[in-house]
Amino acid sequence: MARKFFVGGNFKMNGSLESMKTIIEGLNTTKLNVGDVETVIFPQNMYLITTRQQVKKDIGVGAQNVFDKKNGAYTGENSAQSLIDAGITYTLTGHSERRTIFKESDEFVADKTKFALEQGLTVVACIGETLAEREANETINVVVRQLNAIADKVQNWSKIVIAYEPVWAIGTGKTATPEQAQEVHAEIRKWATNKLGASVAEGLRVIYGGSVNGGNCKEFLKFHDIDGFLVGGASLKPEFHNIVNVHS
Ligand code: PEP
Repeated sequence: MARKFFVGGNFKMNGSLESMKTIIEGLNTTKLNVGDVETVIFPQNMYLITTRQQVKKDIGVGAQNVFDKKNGAYTGENSAQSLIDAGITYTLTGHSERRTIFKESDEFVADKTKFALEQGLTVVACIGETLAEREANETINVVVRQLNAIADKVQNWSKIVIAYEPVWAIGTGKTATPEQAQEVHAEIRKWATNKLGASVAEGLRVIYGGSVNGGNCKEFLKFHDIDGFLVGGASLKPEFHNIVNVHS
């Protein structure tokens, strides 16, 4: 089964009314290969609704985080239902900045992933090892642990995209080599085959994130298990258009 290439732009806690206007104008006026490439941007909450209203319809809009409860007394949290209500149909979960800065556990990430899926969102679930874990040869153990936590709670994997993002490559300018990324992606697919079955594994998109930019994205295409990118810093710049269009 062919897996549709996926490119996400994680704007993190960046942007202003002015810069969002420029980014949206750029996306709306550039010829993007959105027919073949599922393209989704993840602005900070403040700009979600206006972005959804203004960016062309074949570009998805997603939240960077979501809570695991419907609504109620959870000050400061993001409701999946409200996202859906506003046409925001994607969310990230488990981004390494959430895991490290906000101390989100594997289990909490799994709860949020499960709940977001149940509410109808498509989830880009982020996993990845720290530098210390890589140096201790723990990379595969870490990603498998993070994946198992999700698999313990989630049955239907049709609306999950896995983003493999080595923490040491995020926002550092230091990318994993395409070979390093492929090695982990292949292990993730092997895990999926064993845990979820061959047909789920074959359809599961596993995208790479970590200092991807307009200059290095092409190198990753030669590997069959790399199904797209989650892009941070470069997604705020016009080079994001080149990343979307690299898969032609
Ligand atoms: C990210 O935020 O998910 C990310 C991959 O960031 P960057 O591309 O800046 O490393």
